[in-house]
Amino acid sequence: MKILVLNAGSSSLKYKIFDLDHDLVLASGLVEKIGEEKAHLIYETKSKKTYEEEAPFKNHKEALEKIISILLDKKLGVLNSVSELQGVGHRVVHGGESFKIPCKVNEEVLKGIEKMIPLAPLHNPPNLEGLKVSMSLFPKVPQVAVFDTSFHQTMPKHAFRYALPEDLYEKHGLRRYGFHGTSHHYVAKVAANYLNIPIEKLNAITFHLGNGGSMAAIKGGKSIDTSMGMTPLEGLVMGTRSGDIDPAIPFFLERELKMDLKSIDLLLNKKSGLKGICGKNDIRDISRLSKNGDEKATLALNIYCYRIKKYLGAYLALLPKLDALVFTAGIGENSTLVREMILKDLNHLGINLDQEKNKNVKRGTIQAIQAEGKDQTVIKILVVPTDEEKEIASQTKGILN
Ligand code: AMP
Repeated sequence: MKILVLNAGSSSLKYKIFDLDHDLVLASGLVEKIGEEKAHLIYETKSKKTYEEEAPFKNHKEALEKIISILLDKKLGVLNSVSELQGVGHRVVHGGESFKIPCKVNEEVLKGIEKMIPLAPLHNPPNLEGLKVSMSLFPKVPQVAVFDTSFHQTMPKHAFRYALPEDLYEKHGLRRYGFHGTSHHYVAKVAANYLNIPIEKLNAITFHLGNGGSMAAIKGGKSIDTSMGMTPLEGLVMGTRSGDIDPAIPFFLERELKMDLKSIDLLLNKKSGLKGICGKNDIRDISRLSKNGDEKATLALNIYCYRIKKYLGAYLALLPKLDALVFTAGIGENSTLVREMILKDLNHLGINLDQEKNKNVKRGTIQAIQAEGKDQTVIKILVVPTDEEKEIASQTKGILN
């Protein structure tokens, strides 16, 4: 079964085409700077044929048309005809409460996604555009929307409601939704499989630590809490986002510094987090600077890991039993230092990291890095490479079947 996965951003279009019967990625790539003079297209196949082009793609339609022409190209392509595609899976960021599972897209679903725009004004419009363009170019291929929020729709009310007047929830949807659901779900399933535990029985805490970051408490294979909220700003310290702050800080900024709402939004989303503390948002740079004695970089690392540790403590208290801690995404998979700092001094909770295994994690493979031995932990510590596109492809297959 061949499935194309599309992830449309405001000026980008990421794509990956899977042959699920043979567990293969046939081709993948990205178009960036759509709408600009020099949009940039990258294309790569499993046999390492690559293609790059700079062209003024005016919109997502032109970009997708170009992608299709490459996919069908005699030399570079991986398809003989578009009819070989059995489905297109789309990443949609916000499904609100309406979309608890992925769904086949029709007019009603498009309207539903449109309704969620006030909750995700930056993400849902380009996702919707990607869907519409794909439907117009592949009118005979079924399209499936897979939502970042769906996996967390199992959170109980006491976890997802804010302590705000009920009307704001009932009439305007102000509640916690959580994001990165596709990734949390995927790594939980991979971990369950690795540990030989049926997913319905897995109790785990998943750490999606990339430029954006979130954690999830998973009980019986279901998300019961997650660190992001109504928007992806709540929770952990991130590359450029503050995560949790006193909600009165914006009032101070407005009153004392005369900042308007737009500037406050920019400050909290783009100028805060690791970048705000030390001027850098890449953990590789920050780790290097800290090693060389840079105090701001050290503070940034300390604040980053301290916040994650606090959420770990909170989620431990929510779970009746814990099988595994699961680290994923750019930082979770690759930063020995961050994993070590988060898990330091937790032996009393049965969490024991094996320092050597932690240092020798091989890229792109699932690894167990807890210390073994008698009287040692029963809590597994896993590093699991995430693959959101593969999960979207497999959920698309599930819906179409
Ligand atoms: P993501 O958003 O999942 O692509 O993650 C991006 C982040 O992963 C970057 O900002 C880096 O901080 C981090 N990262 C990527 N590679 C490494 C690495 N080899 N070691 C440490 N951090 C890394």
